[in-house]
Amino acid sequence: MRFVSGWTTPDKRILVNFDDKVLDVFRQHTQRLSSDAEAGGLLLGEVRGGHLNLVDATFPTAGDLRSRYSFERLPQGHAEVAHKMWSDSRGTVRYVGEWHSHPQDFPIPSGIDRSEWKRLASERKDKRPFLAVIVGNAVLHVELVSSKGDGLVLHPCA
Ligand SMILES: [Zn+2]
Repeated sequence: MRFVSGWTTPDKRILVNFDDKVLDVFRQHTQRLSSDAEAGGLLLGEVRGGHLNLVDATFPTAGDLRSRYSFERLPQGHAEVAHKMWSDSRGTVRYVGEWHSHPQDFPIPSGIDRSEWKRLASERKDKRPFLAVIVGNAVLHVELVSSKGDGLVLHPCA
């Protein structure tokens, strides 16, 4: 199974690309077994015009609390990685969103997911849309959330 790397908005104006390294992190954290816990982390990418190129993703650290149906991120470890990427890349790679896994083949955002995304989007200092990804067992759910909380679901590029 391979996740799709290229995604676009319905009007094809915004492209989002996931590097192999990011897809590997997603693949390693799917929840195929009933014992697999929910996972998640930060998405780090380059902003090129309105487009996003995702180059890295953080994944659960020992400090994160994990269970099958919840994932509570303890921010410290992830934030350190994000800051290091930002300074190592001289500011070209930045925090652009977050991902987490669902124990579903075709993941559906929960009400809690939506309210959390809205909050995270409204907190972005650069006012750019927040990239939200849910990793399912079969496919990804990829969505851009504006600072007002409106979500735009992306589709795989043909
Ligand atoms: Zn969720």
